[in-house]
Amino acid sequence: MLEKFYSHPLKNLNTFGFDVSARCLIRAYSVPEILQLRSDRDFACGKRLVLGGGSNLLFTSDFDGCILQPLLQNISPEDDTDARVRLRVGAGVAWDELVSRCVERGWHGLENLSLIPGTVGACPVQNIGAYGAEAKDVIEGVEYVDLDSFTVKYLSNEQCRFGYRSSIFKKELKDKAVITQVLFGLSKQPRYNTSYGSLSEMVKQLGGESLHNIRRAVVATRRGKLPDPAEMGNAGSFFKNPFVEKSAAEELRKRHPDMPSFASGSGVKIPAGWLIEQCGLKGARRGSVGVHPKQALVLVSYGGGTGGEVLALAREVCQAVRDKFGVALELEVNVV
Ligand SMILES: Cc1cc2nc3c(=O)[nH]c(=O)nc-3n(C[C@H](O)[C@H](O)[C@H](O)COP(=O)(O)OP(=O)(O)OC[C@H]3O[C@@H](n4cnc5c(N)ncnc54)[C@H](O)[C@@H]3O)c2cc1C
Repeated sequence: MLEKFYSHPLKNLNTFGFDVSARCLIRAYSVPEILQLRSDRDFACGKRLVLGGGSNLLFTSDFDGCILQPLLQNISPEDDTDARVRLRVGAGVAWDELVSRCVERGWHGLENLSLIPGTVGACPVQNIGAYGAEAKDVIEGVEYVDLDSFTVKYLSNEQCRFGYRSSIFKKELKDKAVITQVLFGLSKQPRYNTSYGSLSEMVKQLGGESLHNIRRAVVATRRGKLPDPAEMGNAGSFFKNPFVEKSAAEELRKRHPDMPSFASGSGVKIPAGWLIEQCGLKGARRGSVGVHPKQALVLVSYGGGTGGEVLALAREVCQAVRDKFGVALELEVNVV
């Protein structure tokens, strides 16, 4: 049944842990409940936001509107054959719970994305990615409630227009769609992807390629590298790795011969963490917030800060990178 709360605290609903609140928070457990919101005064008028686990959001103030949490919890196999399974998964399922279940069942495709925080409903939004895999590699389609017409719609993988940390849900459909179900096509045949960094070496040390060993290697690496939001507020990578034209990258390499880069489509991707580090900002602290001392891509809250302070630091970082390299950084985190 729909649940509705007024002046609801959001401290436990954003991984920065900022102490802000929402004028109204609604929890919905089914598609008919979401459709019912068409005639809900709080939801139908004014500002609204769809919230998963709050692990890719920065609240800079209280939210003077209505927040909807779609909490559909199904994990339903469809078209289950010897070779593959199609899974229909509700938006409210915790992402890593899904990954863990698939690894247990021997279903291939999600293991490289182990331990990413958040919900299944948010995974198509920025096409989550890690360790050489992206959600788009296994998403067959997405069902959502269109908030203009309050009807249920479906987009195929191609129609979702997935890109690097991007999709139609971050662009044309931003704030216009409530994702309710994600359909995944998973293989039952061994199909390992250990080409990223030292993953292959770690997996070998754990006893060789298997779903369990890939998950163990990814989990161990992530725990060693990334701050745990339960201990230090953060939203993972705050910036995207910028793309530049090949010619621009060559110019930059003349001035910075040790600059790491990798070919990507028609251009070149430069690690944003390296750019930030070169500006002397790794570990920089501004009051209660800072750039993580081990991972310059991650902005952190040491407790008691505000989203505004994080945003000011993000702007300082972008300015420093632009001044030194002439490269524009784009935020990965959604600022509210
Ligand atoms: C420690 C840490 C590590 C991370 N590592 C990675 C990583 O390796 N790779 C990666 O890609 N990301 C990473 N992230 C970012 C984050 O976990 C993902 O982006 C995740 O998918 C966000 O899920 P969420 O449920 O918390 O979404 P939220 O933060 O609640 O929302 C994110 C965006 O999606 C929208 N949204 C959420 N749910 C829905 C829905 N059902 N329908 C429509 N819109 C919706 C929101 O409005 C918002 O714009 C990391 C974050 C942290 C804190």
